[in-house]
Amino acid sequence: PARLTVRARVAPLSGGLLLLLVEDRTAAHRVEEVRRDFVANVSHELKTPVGGLSLLAEAVQDASDDPAAVQRFAARMQVEAGRLSRLVQEIVDLSRLQVADTLHAPQMVSIDEVVAEAVDRCRLVAAAKDVELAVSGDPAARVFGDRDLLMTALRNLVDNAIAYSGHGTRVAVAVTLHHGLVEVQVSDQGVGISEEEQVRIFERFYRVDPARSRSTGGTGLGLAIVKHVSANHGGEVTVWSQPGQGSTFTMRLPAAPTDLAESTAHPTNQ
Ligand code: ADP
Repeated sequence: PARLTVRARVAPLSGGLLLLLVEDRTAAHRVEEVRRDFVANVSHELKTPVGGLSLLAEAVQDASDDPAAVQRFAARMQVEAGRLSRLVQEIVDLSRLQVADTLHAPQMVSIDEVVAEAVDRCRLVAAAKDVELAVSGDPAARVFGDRDLLMTALRNLVDNAIAYSGHGTRVAVAVTLHHGLVEVQVSDQGVGISEEEQVRIFERFYRVDPARSRSTGGTGLGLAIVKHVSANHGGEVTVWSQPGQGSTFTMRLPAAPTDLAESTAHPTNQ
């Protein structure tokens, strides 16, 4: 429930009258609270990989006469450093998305192309788990927006679909266009998400199972980024899921106006 924060002031008027001034500070208060929470979460999240790196550096020093151990610790340092760099990148992405609610230099983007590239980048991880990736597209599905942001969002959805699924399962990505809406559905046959968790997973740093998320290299920011990217494109992201049965994430974005899409697809030399 929203908490109302007010600042009241009493100003004396002539003739013994009093004027009560009430200012609603709820919105400003909430923005400040959200900012403070974010900073606290970021500091907490950064401490884990930084702490890990520092312990590993100590271990390398102690094992200086055991080259095999040094190799092992160095490899783990690389994994931690990769995690740290992904976390920092996602924090930067999310902060940018939260500050700007309009898109910088939007372009015509083919969703089929973005999906194909996002899926390609996930092929190695999928192959390692023997997860089949099935893609169906619609070449007419175009959005006027930011290609890189859309790529990041779709990659997060496909990455998650693979990460929260078992060996030998199937992840399907389907692009459709109807009634002026481009829809991208990412479905998996994985662990699923309970109804109570479904409302929370789009929050920053929220994870259903923190240990599992960390072990798959998750940062807890992926879905918050997907939510902001969808909103910045005038769309939304929703989830359908049943625990043990799998999940389907659907991104719905307004399609680029057909005349605009066609003039960009077939530029004339005027
Ligand atoms: P993470 O980096 O932890 O994956 P996300 O913001 O991408 O963070 O997702 C938040 C949480 O939502 C995850 O920790 C996981 O518990 C849950 N989740 C996301 N996608 C799926 C999925 N496809 N199947 C089951 N759970 C999911």
